[in-house]
Amino acid sequence: MIHQILPVGMLQCNCSIFGDEKTREAIVVDPGDNIDDIVAILTRHSLKVKAIVITHAHIDHIGGAAKLKTLTDAPVYMNSNDQDLYNHLDVQASWLGMESPTRTSIDTDAREGGSLSLGDAKFHILDTPGHTQGSISLWIPAENKLIAGDTLFRDSIGRTDLPGGDGQQILRSIHTKLLVLPEDATVVPGHGPNTTIGREKERNPFLT
Ligand SMILES: [Zn+2]
Repeated sequence: MIHQILPVGMLQCNCSIFGDEKTREAIVVDPGDNIDDIVAILTRHSLKVKAIVITHAHIDHIGGAAKLKTLTDAPVYMNSNDQDLYNHLDVQASWLGMESPTRTSIDTDAREGGSLSLGDAKFHILDTPGHTQGSISLWIPAENKLIAGDTLFRDSIGRTDLPGGDGQQILRSIHTKLLVLPEDATVVPGHGPNTTIGREKERNPFLT
């Protein structure tokens, strides 16, 4: 499977572009900004976007969703518990001193039990609230890979001091949903370098 990680926007959110070599279909996760660069990657690989998935409604992860949806006609998946955050994208923009991007409608409520397919691979949705109430992670067994949004980072966890954050809840999410995955699974966090479940289990100072 094609998988390119592109840090986008001023907060360098890791946007993931997955592509299936056979069907040439793609799933884009967290297109926060730099949509022209994302489209260039899609074009280079001759990929057609079948779904846009948002791990949570913080502006650095969702800011470019409306533009990418307009360009690709692909449906947007997000957990509805983050709808209120998304409705206040202008407030988030003002925190960062930037102009508010256009909003779009969410097409599918992404929640645990649901999944998306790309070629033969399944992307399972895990509810991992705590950083925000609608935070989700994506578990891709065929790739042994977890897209963790801002829930789990290398040596850190997501902040819980913003509206909708809950420190106890994020720890519960990480322990019960993420650390039970295979130790050698690759973790792609919402910011910064990749890690593995085993490494974070052993060395993450917030989890020991
Ligand atoms: Zn966030």
